[in-house]
Order: sequence, then C-alpha cells, then structure tokens
Amino acid sequence: MKKKNLIFVGAPGSGKGTISGMLLKEVTLAHISTGDILRDEIKRGTPLGVQASEIMKSGGLVSDDIVVGMVRERLAKDDCKNGFILDGFPRTVNQAELLGKVLADLGMELDAVIFFNVPDQVLLERLTSRLTCKACGAVFNKLSMKPQVEGVCDKCQGELIQRADDSLETATNRLKVFYAQTQAVIDYYRASGKMIELNNLTSEQSMDVLKKELF
Ligand code: ADP
Ligand code: ZN
Repeated sequence: MKKKNLIFVGAPGSGKGTISGMLLKEVTLAHISTGDILRDEIKRGTPLGVQASEIMKSGGLVSDDIVVGMVRERLAKDDCKNGFILDGFPRTVNQAELLGKVLADLGMELDAVIFFNVPDQVLLERLTSRLTCKACGAVFNKLSMKPQVEGVCDKCQGELIQRADDSLETATNRLKVFYAQTQAVIDYYRASGKMIELNNLTSEQSMDVLKKELF
C-alpha cells in the first residue's frame, strides 16, 4: 500500500466526503474532516461546539485558529503517519499557509491536492436532497442514493436527517462563502503543480482517476 498525504478541496456537495468513503474501503488512510470534527464537538456540547454551532448554521466559516488547531492535533496522531485525507480543510488561503507550517513541523509533505469541480446547479440539487445519518455521519440522497429503508441508515440503522446547514438558504450561503474564500485556495495549490482536477465526474470516474494517478 502506498502512503499518500492528500487534500480534498471543492465546494460543499462536490463529493469530497463520498469519494473519501469509497477510497477508504480500498486503502488505509486517516480521514480528517473538519466538518465532522466540528459536528462531533457540537453533539458533545463542548465549549468549542457551542461556539461553532451558530456559525455553521448560518453557513459561515469557523475561525482559522480553531480549525488549524484541530487539524494540528489530529495530524500529530500515529495513524496519520501512514497517510491521510484532509477533507474540507484548508478553506482559506490563511489556513493553507498555516497548514504548510504544521506539515513542516511534523516532517510531512503533501502528495496531491484533489479539486472536485462541479457546477453550482448540481451542487444545490445535491445539498438540498442530502440525508445524513445522525449517528455515524453516513451520507445518502433522497433522489439518487436512497437508503434501503426510508429514514434509516443502511450502515448503522441510525436516523437519517437533513443537516441544519443543508436548507436551501444556508446551502446557497455556503456556496457564496466557497467562492469568496475557498476559490483562492485552489489557485494557491494549482501553482504547486500537485493538483488533480476532477471536472464534474461521476463517483466511479473519480475513483478510476484517483487510483490511476495515486495508487
Ligand atoms: P460541506 O463540505 O458539505 O460544506 P463540511 O462538513 O465540510 O461540509 O463543513 C460544514 C461546516 O463546518 C462549514 O460550512 C463551516 O461552517 C464548518 N467548517 C468545516 N471545515 C472548516 C474549515 N476548514 N474552516 C472553517 N470552517 C469549517
Ligand atoms: Zn449510520
């Protein structure tokens, strides 16, 4: 198995989480989703969770210091030595620059940055029809990836809900935030020559490209 240190970047709903899940069935990498870590903090009612909750409900970004601190802690854990996927981080150029320092401190290097490029129309359709397991975070879709039993997670039998930030209003705002803040991260990494662009591919096509280019 080849060790890879990867970043997945793309708008909300672009397939970062879905492809992470598919890839992790075939290769062993640490999956670091800042959104998942923050939702877990909210569920546990920690001070950080309380602070992040309102921001996430509005579709805005949690402060760079908080998320970089979370990622720094997570990357220092043993399992990351065998490679990792950073899913949904960095989302600002400042986060990307700070990540560069964290990686240098840990003696780590990025192998590739995967950009999930998907048109807005498709993103909004996906986000507003998305269903998420309250217990394990698995993602389904009312239209395209229905669970076997309505409202129930195939993986853990947990309850499927619409994430608070997947309402049309908040999803629209998250897309705006993506263009205002995260678009520049793509240009930042494009200059590094490590970027692989997946231009509106199906999940199967995306998997084929990643396996061919990386593993
Ligand atoms: P999606 O990619 O579908 O938007 P995420 O689970 O990655 O979903 O993120 C959900 C929310 O968590 C974001 O809208 C934001 O408020 C917060 N968040 C996640 N990652 C970051 C990050 N790197 N920087 C700032 N806020 C973040
Ligand atoms: Zn579940």
